[in-house]
Amino acid sequence: MGLLSEGSPLSWEETRQYADHIRKHGIKQFINIYHKLKDRTNDQLKWGDEIEYIMVHFDDASQRAQLLLKAHEVLPKLQHKEHEAIEKGENVQLHSLWRPEYADYMIEGTPGQPYGSYLHCFNQVENNMRRRRHEAQKMLDANSAVITFTAFPRLGCPDFTFPSAKTDPIDGVSRSLFFPDEAIFPGHPRFSTLTRNIRQRRGKKVAINVPAFIDKKTPRPLVEDYIPLGDDGEAKRAAKPDHIYMDAMGFGMGCCCLQVTFQACNIDEGRFLYDQLTALCPILLSVSAAAPIFRGHLADVDCRWSVISGSVDDRTDEERGVEPLKAARFRIPKSRYDSVDCYISPMGERYNDIKMVVDEDLLKEMVDNGIDRQLALHMAHLFVRDPVSVFSEKINQDDENETDHFENLQSTNWQTMRFKPPPPNSPIGWRVEFRPMEIQMTDFENAAFVVFIVLLTRVIVSFQLNFLIPMSKVEENMKEAQKRDAARQGRFHFRKDIVAGTTESPSCKKCARPSKDEYTQMSINEIFNGIPGVFPGLIPLIKDYLKDVDLDVDTSCTLQTYLRFMRKKASGELQTTARWLRDFVEQHADYKQDGVVSEKINYDLMKACEAVARGDVFDPKLHIKRVRPPGQDQDAELSDDDLLNGQ
Ligand code: ADP
Ligand code: MG
Ligand code: MG
Ligand code: MG
Repeated sequence: MGLLSEGSPLSWEETRQYADHIRKHGIKQFINIYHKLKDRTNDQLKWGDEIEYIMVHFDDASQRAQLLLKAHEVLPKLQHKEHEAIEKGENVQLHSLWRPEYADYMIEGTPGQPYGSYLHCFNQVENNMRRRRHEAQKMLDANSAVITFTAFPRLGCPDFTFPSAKTDPIDGVSRSLFFPDEAIFPGHPRFSTLTRNIRQRRGKKVAINVPAFIDKKTPRPLVEDYIPLGDDGEAKRAAKPDHIYMDAMGFGMGCCCLQVTFQACNIDEGRFLYDQLTALCPILLSVSAAAPIFRGHLADVDCRWSVISGSVDDRTDEERGVEPLKAARFRIPKSRYDSVDCYISPMGERYNDIKMVVDEDLLKEMVDNGIDRQLALHMAHLFVRDPVSVFSEKINQDDENETDHFENLQSTNWQTMRFKPPPPNSPIGWRVEFRPMEIQMTDFENAAFVVFIVLLTRVIVSFQLNFLIPMSKVEENMKEAQKRDAARQGRFHFRKDIVAGTTESPSCKKCARPSKDEYTQMSINEIFNGIPGVFPGLIPLIKDYLKDVDLDVDTSCTLQTYLRFMRKKASGELQTTARWLRDFVEQHADYKQDGVVSEKINYDLMKACEAVARGDVFDPKLHIKRVRPPGQDQDAELSDDDLLNGQ
C-alpha cells in the first residue's frame, strides 16, 4: 500500500491547505534525489514479489464463509521477529516480512529480503510463498483460512464479515451502504483517513458500476432498492441499471493483487524497463484475470481493475468533466488509480500520444533544475493530484534528506507501473514495480507468474526487446483485457517487430509519429506462444535466452514447469482463474441462472479455493504436473516440518 507515515492525520480541510506546500516540497525532494542519484550505476538486479492475502472464517454448521477481521491481531504476531530485530539493531535474515493492507481481513507478505540475480533463486520463490502462507495460517484457528483470492465474492453483501459489523451511512468514514468501517484496518490511521478524505475531496461517495453478467434468469432491468440499507437518494442516483453498484474504497482497495519490484542497474535501465513493461501490463492483467464476481453477483468483466480504479476516484464533478470547470485547476481524465499515461524513456517519447494533464509550474521547476522534459512530464502528471493523507508531524521536512512529501503523492498515484527512485541515504537503487496482475489461488501459480515476468525482464534487457506501441493503444488494451474471457477471445494491439531492438523502424524517423505498420492485433496465445514465421512469442524468446545461460537441473525443471504452465494458460488449454470461478458458480447445484452468488455457493467456492491452494485437489483445468529431474518422479512436496525448519 506504499508509504506508512506515523502520526496524527489531518482532516480534509486541513490537508487541502497544505496541498501546494506538499507538492512544491515533494518536487524539490525529487529534484534532490535525482541529482544525488542520477549517476548511480552498477546496481545488481534485485527483485521481490508482494502477495496479498484475505482471511476467511468458515461456519460449517450454517455453511457460510465470511471475511475474518483479524489483521490487527495477527499482524503484530507476524511482525514480532522483525520488530524485535529492529529494536535490538540485529541484522536477522527473515524469511518473510508482513505489512498491513487496506482491510482488516487482509495482510501483505513479501520475502524477507529481495532475491538476487542468480537463476537458482527461482527455485526459492514458490517455497517462500508456501512458507508465508503457512506462517500466516498458523495464526488462525482451524475454522479460518488464509487464502489468495482477488475479490471476495460476497464482499459488501449483508453480514460478509466475521464478526458482524454494521455500516454507518450517516457518520461512517466511507458512509457506505455495504462496507462497514470495521472492515478497514484499524491499526494505522492512513487507511480510514484516505477513505474519508477521498470521499470529502470528491464531494460525494465514490461510485463504481460494473456491468453485471446477464444470465437467462437475471431480472431485467437489474435494479436494486437501497432504501432499506439507509440510502438518502445518493445510491439511487449513482447506480446504473444492469450494473453492480459499489460505493466505497474497500470494494477496490479490499481486493488482492500480485506485484513485482525490480531494481535496475541504473536510472536509464529503469526507465527503459518501465516503458517496456508498461506495454505488457494489459497482457498480464488479462492472463491473470481472477475477479469475475462482485458484491454477490457475476460480473461481465473478469478483472478487479476498473473497480479499484473507481474505488479511490477522488476527482470532483468538475475534474471529471460532469460540470463546467470553475474552481478546479484541471479536467483530469482518469482516477488516481489507473493505467500509466506516458512512457518515460527517450525511446518511448514518440509513442506518447495521450493528452496529459500536468502541473506546468512544477514541470518548469524540474526542467529549470536539470531534469529532462520526459521524466519531468511524468512527475508533473502525477503531481496534479492533491495529497489525501497528511500527518501533522510530517509537514515540515528537510528536503535534502527526507522524501515524505514526494512519497506522499507518488504512493497515492496507483498506476499499472511505478517508477521508484532510491530512498535517500540507502543502499537501494532505481526500481520499477509491475502492478497489474491479479492474485492466483495457489503458490504454484503465483510463483509461475512472478518468475515469468522476472525472466521476461532479463530477456528484455539482454536482447534489447522493444514492445512499444502508441500509449493510446496500450489504453485500448487495458479495456480489452478486462472483458469477460479476454484471455481466450480478446485481440490486443501488439508490436510486430519486437526483436529489432531500440533502432527505429525504417519507415519512421525517430522524431516522427509511429507508423501503423509497427503494430497489429494478436490474441494472448499468439503474443505468448508466437505465430510461426511471423512473430516469435514471449515464451520462445525466454527459452532462447535460457539456452545460453548455465542452469542446474533443478532450476531448469522449475523453469520448464512454469513456462509450460504459462504456455498453456495463454493457449487456453488451462483456464484463467476468472473462468474457473465462473464455471464453479454456473455449475453449482444452487445456482439459479440469475447471476447471484449465494451464501452457500460462496461457502463452497471458498472451501474449494482452500482445497486447491493446499494441494488437496488437483484440477487439470487449472494446473499441470511438475517437470521433475530424471529419476525423481515423485511430487516431493515439502512437509510442514521442512517449512518450519526454514527450507
Ligand atoms: P511497496 O508496497 O511500496 O510496493 P514493499 O516494501 O511492499 O513496497 O516491497 C516491494 C518488493 O520490493 C518486495 O518484494 C521487496 O522484497 C522488494 N525489494 C526490496 N528491496 C529491493 C531492491 N533493492 N530491489 C528490488 N526489489 C526490492
Ligand atoms: Mg499491497
Ligand atoms: Mg507492499
Ligand atoms: Mg507494491
